[in-house]
Amino acid sequence: MNRSNFVSPRAMFEVLEILAADPDAKLLAGGTDLIVQMREGRVSPRTLVDLSRLSELSCIKLRHDTLHIGCMTTFNQVARNPLVVRHAPVLAQAARQVGSVQIRNQGTIGGNLANASPAADSIPPLITLGAKAEVVSKDGSRSLAVEDLLAGVGVNTLLPGEMIAEVSFSLPAPLARSAFVKLGRRKAMAIARISMAGLLVLSADGLVTEARLALGAVGATVFRALEAEATLLHKPLDRSVVAACLRAVQDTVAQKLGRRASATYKREAIRGVAEELFFQLVPELGAP
Ligand SMILES: Cc1cc2nc3c(=O)[nH]c(=O)nc-3n(C[C@H](O)[C@H](O)[C@H](O)COP(=O)(O)OP(=O)(O)OC[C@H]3O[C@@H](n4cnc5c(N)ncnc54)[C@H](O)[C@@H]3O)c2cc1C
Repeated sequence: MNRSNFVSPRAMFEVLEILAADPDAKLLAGGTDLIVQMREGRVSPRTLVDLSRLSELSCIKLRHDTLHIGCMTTFNQVARNPLVVRHAPVLAQAARQVGSVQIRNQGTIGGNLANASPAADSIPPLITLGAKAEVVSKDGSRSLAVEDLLAGVGVNTLLPGEMIAEVSFSLPAPLARSAFVKLGRRKAMAIARISMAGLLVLSADGLVTEARLALGAVGATVFRALEAEATLLHKPLDRSVVAACLRAVQDTVAQKLGRRASATYKREAIRGVAEELFFQLVPELGAP
């Protein structure tokens, strides 16, 4: 691991000045991805900008029916926060399944997004919640949908000098149901081999008025299964509707993976993951 210049600013404007002046500088949040990448020689930044002194970046606030989560908020804070647990249980559920206690205490939501892994656990729930990232630089700020932050495996769309300040989303409708299911390599410390998040909104007469399904670790980025979502819209959540949706999810995965080595395994695995997801979303239908 090469030696980097380590700076630990106390104010946000200082961070943005450093990023503007040195395009080779890297932000250090929890370090659970970055330090591993530096040890393996995959990145060797000239300057490391430690964000740990900026306590204002580590917060969860509800403002005008929008939940704001600062970039330095850890998975543990997300998993335990009463606002998240109540209004966005899908995100709390995913945060609880990240790595180990140490990783959940250290790893941040901003780092998870910026690292842009297709297996990142916070991304499918955030996409189903319609979350936006607030991206800031010395020159100002812009807001972009979480899916628009993702450009490929480990590649984000941030421009030089930019960082993610927070993610935010409008509170889901009161009748929304949501869930996250992940299949890992082992019970603990598992990066997802395949994951899926779902958020459904039902009308008072039981028809699906909104459906968002996001798949992780299937393509180069997390993405929405739009065709599967369409099978649910304006329908009651009965067994035949759910069965059609499961088939559409499997078709989407098969198309996405083509002849890749993992295709045979993942085509089967997604069926189990999607069945479990719908079991959690529609428990009244019972086990598949
Ligand atoms: C043993 C182990 C198990 C793991 N298990 C899981 C798991 O189950 N699920 C999962 O999703 N991940 C897992 N991870 C990966 C990792 O913990 C997460 O991706 C974590 O969220 C990264 O956050 P961090 O704060 O540690 O980021 P860092 O490592 O500090 O940073 C990651 C990258 O993001 C950049 N960055 C950080 N913050 C910002 C910001 N605000 N704006 C712009 N760029 C920024 C950094 O410069 C760096 O390039 C695991 C890692 C390990 C080592």
